[in-house]
Amino acid sequence: MSTIDQNLQAVRHSIASASCEAGRGPHAVKLLAVSKTFGADVVLGAVRAGQTAFGENYLQEALDKMAVVAAALPGTPLEWHFIGPIQSNKTRLIAEHFDWVHTVEREKIAQRLSEQRPLGLAPLNICLQVNTSGEISKSGIAPAELAALAHQVAALPNLALRGLMAIPEPALKFEQQRAAFRPLRLLYEQLRGAGLALDTLSMGMSADMRAAIVEGATIVRVGSALFGSRDYQ
Ligand SMILES: *Cc1c(COP(=O)(O)O)cnc(C)c1O
Repeated sequence: MSTIDQNLQAVRHSIASASCEAGRGPHAVKLLAVSKTFGADVVLGAVRAGQTAFGENYLQEALDKMAVVAAALPGTPLEWHFIGPIQSNKTRLIAEHFDWVHTVEREKIAQRLSEQRPLGLAPLNICLQVNTSGEISKSGIAPAELAALAHQVAALPNLALRGLMAIPEPALKFEQQRAAFRPLRLLYEQLRGAGLALDTLSMGMSADMRAAIVEGATIVRVGSALFGSRDYQ
């Protein structure tokens, strides 16, 4: 078995056991393989090992990789998730090439994505990124402003508002990790209570996915545990 096969098996096993520990079903959590900084060959290896959903942070790098992967495995249905910061001059290419965007934090960006989503494609799946840890420098919308943004985005025609995403400050201890994810789950439950049909909590990475799953994550975004450490972010 190749390294990527082994790593995928190990990560899938961790996801299944954390789900079980939390009393959740075996398919409650989806694995998003974060392939940023890794080449198309690495993605192809993961696809051959059965992985279908990939997360990318850098637009040009992602587009180059998608083209190589599509040429090597024509007709293989893959799902591409944009998980990096979004500049407004990049929205068109994101709207044309991705299935999901996890990092929407402003109405203007959401409007552009909706306007620029090609008509033949399904609505673009959206998670709103929330700044749950409150530092001024961090990206994500402030919790106090989330409900207004969520209702605006839910009304846009070519987007499907699916849920929330956060990247809390790294914490070493399991209980601290859980506590860092809890505010996002509470916000998610509030929005659902207010009538928004959300089904996605995108939280947890290689170092804290178990805590995220116990707190209700439905997508974990995992890079280094699958592909090894990165030379750059
Ligand atoms: C890089 C990245 C990840 C994956 O991080 P790992 O620690 O390598 O698992 C997840 N989410 C986002 C938004 C990222 O930028």
